[in-house]
Amino acid sequence: MAEIIAGSLFMYVFKEASRNAYNNKRREDGFRKNVFDNFGFNLPHTDTSDEVLRELPPGELDALKARLVGRLIGQKLLRKYRFLGKSYLVAVDATGIATFDHKHCEHCLTKTSKSGVVTYFHYVLEAKLVTSTGLAISLASEFIENDPGRDYEKQDCEQKAFVRLAAKIKKHFPRLPVCILGDGLYPNNTVFDICQRNGWQFIITLKDGNLKTFQQEVALLKATSSKTNVYRATKTTRVTLQYQYLNDIEYDGRYFSWVECNETVVNINDKSTKIQRFTYITNVDQNGQSIVQTADSGRLRWKVENEGFNSQKNLGYELGHKFSRVSFIAMQNYYQLLQIAHIINQLVERSSQVVALLREHSKQTIVDLWNKMIAYLLFAHVENVDWMPSLPG
Ligand SMILES: [Zn+2]
Repeated sequence: MAEIIAGSLFMYVFKEASRNAYNNKRREDGFRKNVFDNFGFNLPHTDTSDEVLRELPPGELDALKARLVGRLIGQKLLRKYRFLGKSYLVAVDATGIATFDHKHCEHCLTKTSKSGVVTYFHYVLEAKLVTSTGLAISLASEFIENDPGRDYEKQDCEQKAFVRLAAKIKKHFPRLPVCILGDGLYPNNTVFDICQRNGWQFIITLKDGNLKTFQQEVALLKATSSKTNVYRATKTTRVTLQYQYLNDIEYDGRYFSWVECNETVVNINDKSTKIQRFTYITNVDQNGQSIVQTADSGRLRWKVENEGFNSQKNLGYELGHKFSRVSFIAMQNYYQLLQIAHIINQLVERSSQVVALLREHSKQTIVDLWNKMIAYLLFAHVENVDWMPSLPG
């Protein structure tokens, strides 16, 4: 079983575009031998893996991922990235992973266009542990899916999936100090209740239309709030960040803090100016010390989109590629393996050895290094790799 799972996992570790591309390499004796000598397992045929992944309950790989991430947290590797030295920043966001013009399975979500064309698709809600250095590590994933036989008028949605996702995080990481980062869909009582019950902090984007009474009180008191200015410069820009906060703003019987950051970016070359405003609601009481880190952490939420989804879609992981056209169970399992492979590769890509290789010359890229690794596995003849520990069983 370990070999069958590892075989599919390595398809993503190697950033193979398709099962077919992977099978072509696997057909080479040298490749199979080198994988065995270096990584310690026999590569299964992907058809074998696929059959297993169609049957394996998706909770199994969810739990495996949680164990691996739990180990990383336990080894204190991520401690220095904690918010205010206390909690781990967990960004929540949904993404589409597959679209079909026909009913793919019983769990497809559907959308009907104005002209009556029905599209079938799958969405997944992700909770990723994010850091200011760009790591985005999947803590838990929850598919947004329809129940077969249920009225299509009442489709599953991100808000409902968040309730299940939060329960999953609490189950797998019961004592983990968490700070939830969410977008403008998340400032509501359901989310506030869940965070309060779980003892989680949150920093949630507040859009102009959200929580009217809360925003009215903020508008009244805004002029009295103290401001902190921070200046940052890059080679081409001068950035002014003005931070503001208010504590003890009432909403529906509870009290929260309001945080705002107004950012002005001046481009030195063309003298253009870009102004942006970021507003958050948080249950973390603010003071002059915490305000900058709170607003900056709120903005880390986009990392799930950038570091997480985009690199999984565009940098070789083929998130959108339909690794299983027929089975919803297999689709979920492939998705989990992709998340695990992405965690492994992010850590490898930040390891001192790889960083040193990237610094060798300015044109050296991650893509080049991966091509070289595959070429090595295909063509190198390495006898008796004696640094590998012997395998159990
Ligand atoms: Zn489907």
